[in-house]
Amino acid sequence: MYGYFGTTIIQSLLLFAGIITAGELTGFWMESALGFISLALGISVWRRNQMYRWLEKRPGQPMTQVPGLWLDMTRRIQKREAELSAERDATHRLLANLHQSLASLDAGLVHLTNEWRINWWNKPATQLLGLREAFDKDASVFNLVRTPELFDYVEAQQFELPITLPSPITSGTMLEYTVCSIEHTGYLMVVRDVTRFTRLERMRSDFIANVSHELKTPLTVITGYLETILDNQLVSDGGVRAVEQAFKQADRMNSLIKDLLMLSQLETTEPDSDPQKIRIQDLVENAIQDAQEVKKAVNKVDTQISTGVIPRISVLGDWNELSSALTNLTGNAVRYSHDGADIEIDFKMRGDDGVLTIRDNGPGIPPEHLPRITERFYRVDNSHSRETGGTGLGLAIVKHILYRHGGTLEVTSKVAQGSEFRMVFPADRIES
Ligand code: ADP
Repeated sequence: MYGYFGTTIIQSLLLFAGIITAGELTGFWMESALGFISLALGISVWRRNQMYRWLEKRPGQPMTQVPGLWLDMTRRIQKREAELSAERDATHRLLANLHQSLASLDAGLVHLTNEWRINWWNKPATQLLGLREAFDKDASVFNLVRTPELFDYVEAQQFELPITLPSPITSGTMLEYTVCSIEHTGYLMVVRDVTRFTRLERMRSDFIANVSHELKTPLTVITGYLETILDNQLVSDGGVRAVEQAFKQADRMNSLIKDLLMLSQLETTEPDSDPQKIRIQDLVENAIQDAQEVKKAVNKVDTQISTGVIPRISVLGDWNELSSALTNLTGNAVRYSHDGADIEIDFKMRGDDGVLTIRDNGPGIPPEHLPRITERFYRVDNSHSRETGGTGLGLAIVKHILYRHGGTLEVTSKVAQGSEFRMVFPADRIES
């Protein structure tokens, strides 16, 4: 009622008044003081015992309603307990809602410890991965998804892109795993059933491959006839230009079909499991030779192609794919730069990675186009690209080839200053 300090003052005054009154009445000051102090101590011990017993009881039980210091303290404890209990209830409700929301997601969520042990999962994860509470809690995730790809993916710690693997429990089902690291507590793995998307993607690739293949034969026949007409001068002067145009377009279509087939082959086949050792020097020499042809074809005979000092280093991969990638980038540098431009091919180590750079002092690429230039058929300047014989698939092919070699394509460019395309190979692909 009077609070902690009020009660303390009142109790002290009462004690003091008791001692004074008893001392005055009896004349025994010392005995009165000792008597009253002992009485106060006794009451204090009694109340303390009461409080101790109360603390041992279940929370919420009332304390004996005797006013004083201890009652005030118990009230404060009770108030704090009630607050904590309300906070706990709110947290429980929040957790229950969260669990319910996570269970209603169509993606499986698995929380993994820092040691990749399964700690918690939601209901969809039970269905997608066949997790069982009694067996799989604390088990290693690699015991559940027994594929070396997942282990390699996790070991590389590069979680920007998801990984798609066959389901460990249902044949024919494809699951996509996305992992993100959670500070201090481990990892969160999101699992999605992507069987339908994989099938659609496969159908799309097959369709493009089939169409391209079917177009190849009639187009070869058409090109053949047009060539015969031109070679044997079977049309009068007025018709020559038309046939020449038809031949040029048929040739363009041939390149397009060739690139489409190459892209679809890159998408649908597994990378070579036994890669060859390819000398960087050989790749560069081959690209320079091909670039001479491009120079002639696009009338850029004054363009200079030089190389830096190429170290005696090899890259592990597929010759056809890597030479095609480098030829593509060198060809682009020739085609998009002015006649007389300087192109440089160079190889350097960057940490453990090997970087093959193709640099030109051509027109450069405006920054807003850079994020999209590796998309299929994306062109910075439509008309110019077609003029120079581009199919719009070159960089998409290069990107895919590098991806199959565990590498990446980096591009930096400045308008009116030039572009730099870098083929980056990881350490495990480089051999000195
Ligand atoms: P394309 O067959 O049209 O060359 P690519 O995929 O090879 O298609 O290139 C995409 C676009 O990127 C090109 O259309 C061109 O606008 C731009 N590009 C590529 N390389 C260069 C370069 N070295 N300099 C300037 N622009 C370039």
